[in-house]
Amino acid sequence: MANTSYPASYYAASANPAPSRPALQGEVETDVCVIGAGYTGLSSALFLLENGFKVTVLEAAKVGFGASGRNGGQIVNSYSRDIDVIERSVGPQQAQLLGNMAFEGGRIIRERVAKYQIQCDLKDGGVFAALTAKQMGHLESQKRLWERFGHTQLELLDQRRIREVVACEEYVGGMLDMSGGHIHPLNLALGEAAAVESLGGVIHEQSPAVRIERGASPVVHTPQGKVRAKFIIVAGNAYLGNLVPELAAKSMPCGTQVIATEPLGDELAHSLLPQDYCVEDCNYLLDYYRLTGDKRLIFGGGVVYGARDPANIEAIIRPKMLKAFPQLKQVKIDYAWTGNFLLTLSRLPQVGRLGDNIYYSQGCSGHGVTYTHLAGKVLAEALRGQAERFDAFADLPHYPFPGGQLLRTPFAAMGAWYYGLRDRLGF
Ligand SMILES: Cc1cc2nc3c(=O)[nH]c(=O)nc-3n(C[C@H](O)[C@H](O)[C@H](O)COP(=O)(O)OP(=O)(O)OC[C@H]3O[C@@H](n4cnc5c(N)ncnc54)[C@H](O)[C@@H]3O)c2cc1C
Repeated sequence: MANTSYPASYYAASANPAPSRPALQGEVETDVCVIGAGYTGLSSALFLLENGFKVTVLEAAKVGFGASGRNGGQIVNSYSRDIDVIERSVGPQQAQLLGNMAFEGGRIIRERVAKYQIQCDLKDGGVFAALTAKQMGHLESQKRLWERFGHTQLELLDQRRIREVVACEEYVGGMLDMSGGHIHPLNLALGEAAAVESLGGVIHEQSPAVRIERGASPVVHTPQGKVRAKFIIVAGNAYLGNLVPELAAKSMPCGTQVIATEPLGDELAHSLLPQDYCVEDCNYLLDYYRLTGDKRLIFGGGVVYGARDPANIEAIIRPKMLKAFPQLKQVKIDYAWTGNFLLTLSRLPQVGRLGDNIYYSQGCSGHGVTYTHLAGKVLAEALRGQAERFDAFADLPHYPFPGGQLLRTPFAAMGAWYYGLRDRLGF
């Protein structure tokens, strides 16, 4: 069997030491079989283990191989579409439940980091940067909205104030969320995997689930073994392929690209981001960036619909970085990589149950670091028979992409082109 290792990212190069976990051989029995060792799978496994379940995690490649080990590392609150959109779509009662959960994921991450002493360069503070007066107006209403749901660590930044936290001339203002922040994402996943094992959970790497035998006592097959379980949690997200055909129809894997500069040194790094906050702009096709523990700039942006890997990532992302920070013209790019997130048409996550015992959560559409940690808790609650919060997500309506699997990529790309144009024209 092929041994799938990490992409050549900055994160893989600076990962904390981790054991290599043997592939599943033979047959095992457990309470819950989790498919996928990204944040969704690991968070589910941790909450289940903390509540007395026996858990086996199957990972096709390595812990954090997917988006969880490649992302921008930004702890961003709420969902990819905000609570007001949810309210318009499903009404005030369900929106209230979902709104109450919108800031929990970030708290879960911090609890995990503290409880299991995870070394992942956690820093507090995230900035949403407005490029236009319209975007600034949107941030003002977002602040009011989030405060309505009890989220208070927010500060609006005027043009003068945003210059104090980010040395980019493009912004007209912004909003600082002190409960946002950033992490080394792969080290967070590796720390969570170690926590799973410390509680008796078992993780098999290089063990793709290739078939699920459904029924009262479902069985997950891998190339060299099988897991019989009472419950299955499907957490393969954009890397799942067609293992569960019902899940492939209403979502689309998309690629997004990230670069990491050479270390900038304390002085230059401090001049760009004096408070070490992370930043994302307010465009639909947004740019996001932050400093690493060793003072590199990590810069991400760009979306490839249908998740094809672009030939030259640096050529796509470096110009965006130089637009924000022309002062980095002479700086070398040490790493460039791509990763896949899962887009849904509504940009809200898909959560649900197939039959009585197969649960899933996927498709948080770009902002998933906090949501996936919440998802693990909500799935674990549902398996324990407390489904109110699970149902609030499961009841969100989801629609297939127009054009089906064949045409969904060009349709979504057209949509993105339209929104990209609106960003450029400042609408
Ligand atoms: C480049 C990039 C930058 C991003 N930046 C941010 C950011 O800054 N902030 C933010 O909030 N969100 C960001 N996101 C989104 C966020 O990273 C994801 O939403 C989140 O990590 C998804 O976690 P997950 O566990 O659901 O999926 P993944 O982390 O993708 O994990 C799925 C795992 O399942 C495994 N798997 C798949 N199929 C099988 C199978 N059949 N058998 C066994 N294992 C299987 C995969 O190998 C993989 O390890 C970014 C995403 C990308 C790609």
